[in-house]
Amino acid sequence: MSHDHCRNCAAPDLAFAAHDHAPCASEALARAIGILAAKGQRLTPVRRRTLEILLEGHRALGAYEVLSRLATEGFGAQPPVAYRALDFLEEHGLAHRIRRLNAFTACMHMGENHTAAFLICCVCHAISEAPAPPARAALDSAASAQGFTIESATIEALGRCPTCQNAPQLVPNKAAA
Ligand SMILES: [Zn+2]
Ligand SMILES: [Zn+2]
Ligand SMILES: [Zn+2]
Repeated sequence: MSHDHCRNCAAPDLAFAAHDHAPCASEALARAIGILAAKGQRLTPVRRRTLEILLEGHRALGAYEVLSRLATEGFGAQPPVAYRALDFLEEHGLAHRIRRLNAFTACMHMGENHTAAFLICCVCHAISEAPAPPARAALDSAASAQGFTIESATIEALGRCPTCQNAPQLVPNKAAA
């Protein structure tokens, strides 16, 4: 898929800027449907709803937040309901696990060969999935200098989004306590 058609490649500052998010979500959902159809995989109602919930913003959601949303909508309240759907989305490249936050976020570069590189705001937990090619190129060149071939990689950078540059630190920090 061409990067020309990717909103987040075309406007890398989108995730942290005030913007009309509906096209982000609808573009990603359309991509997801196409990707799964090409693989002969089904976007079942619970998988689709899970993806739509993740696509509500440029944020990461914990599995239990997703589960409580699914439960209120009648999809069932047992944790496997959410975990199976999230695992499916991750397995097919439609969502990523953010280990730093123990949470999930929708992929903003679905179908593109990319290293997921996340800029994570430690104050408001907004997330931007940075345009991947430059990050991947830097990793590949560092790896190839050691004869190493990268098959998958995830970069998680913690910091402050433009809105939170001057906000007090909200995440408990043991060193400061
Ligand atoms: Zn958006
Ligand atoms: Zn991605
Ligand atoms: Zn922020």
